Amino acid sequence: MSAPEEEGAWGTDPDALPREERLATGEELGAEDELDTSLRPKRLEDFIGQDGVKQQLAIFLQAAKERGEALDHVLLAGPPGLGKTSLAGIVAAEMGVGFHVTSGPILERKGDLAAVLTALEPHDVLFIDEIHRLNRAIEEVLYPAMEDFQLDVVLGQGPSARTLRLDLPKFTLVGATTRTGLLTTPLRARFGVFHRLNYYAPADLAAIVRRSARLLDVTIDDEGADALASRSRGTPRIANRLLRRVRDVAQVRGRGNVDRAVAEEAMELLEVDALGLEELDRQILRLLADTFEGRAVGLGTLADSVGESADTIEDVYEPYLLQEGLLTRTPRGRMATPRAYRHLGMTPPSDPAQGGLF
Ligand code: ADP
Repeated sequence: MSAPEEEGAWGTDPDALPREERLATGEELGAEDELDTSLRPKRLEDFIGQDGVKQQLAIFLQAAKERGEALDHVLLAGPPGLGKTSLAGIVAAEMGVGFHVTSGPILERKGDLAAVLTALEPHDVLFIDEIHRLNRAIEEVLYPAMEDFQLDVVLGQGPSARTLRLDLPKFTLVGATTRTGLLTTPLRARFGVFHRLNYYAPADLAAIVRRSARLLDVTIDDEGADALASRSRGTPRIANRLLRRVRDVAQVRGRGNVDRAVAEEAMELLEVDALGLEELDRQILRLLADTFEGRAVGLGTLADSVGESADTIEDVYEPYLLQEGLLTRTPRGRMATPRAYRHLGMTPPSDPAQGGLF
């Protein structure tokens, strides 16, 4: 178990939400995982938005199929919940091949990877989530597997050990990472196709909400869908989570239809504000603007102060705050922007001598 889950790790702020209630991370939500699976787009035509990525993939897929080859290895980068796992599954479905899922942290020993690789059928897709978290020894097993479709297995130990070289079927590795900067150069170089997924535009998110509502049998009008879309931090997984909560509110209020009023009431209940920020985002901004009085704050201090891991802050919370122009990164640390001050109902500092940059 990692540090943030230990007792007292939420810090002293009584408003700090336990992890289960956080919408932006949500890694440990069993029921929500099932929701992800049931709403996951299965074919390229069901995958909404990211048009550039879809167009390119469609061409690569068709070309590989026409040649009767496996698709080149694909690296997908982007914040959690933007559709990397979904796209990997779609690649397998469009190629008509098997889909195998694992992740960097799960593959602890070389044998774990060998077991996965030797189970592959020709042209299968192997998806490795969080590929930047593979340990170096395993990464080195992956290089010849990706490049030459060969696996070196060491039999025995000590002086009598020998290496057996196995041929693997040609397969497609789809790797997902939150940040490409975390990947080693040799690993990155072995991917033929690279796509970065960006936060979704509100219109695409509204289309995703309407699709999910259809699948979940929820009646939602366009204004209700737009209200959810604008508060989903550009992230389909969050849009789906909000929809589920809104469905609960509609049910309890005895309303058959999710309209703007029901959506907004649910958002208020969840403390998701007009920009889609949740309590932890606001805590980060308050720390920067108020507690640290506009000074630059290092990532470690920020993470400790809100009781989250530095990785989660950097992978989940910060990218959206950066994109929304609420936070900036300076060589000395993170700072709140004037927009953040205004969003918190504070006046941005104007005098640089008082600690502000503006
Ligand atoms: P990631 O692997 O990047 O964390 P996922 O592929 O698990 O993201 O996506 C999370 C959920 O969001 C999916 O189960 C799916 O329901 C929804 N989703 C993601 N991208 C799309 C999309 N482009 N169209 C429709 N739904 C999507």
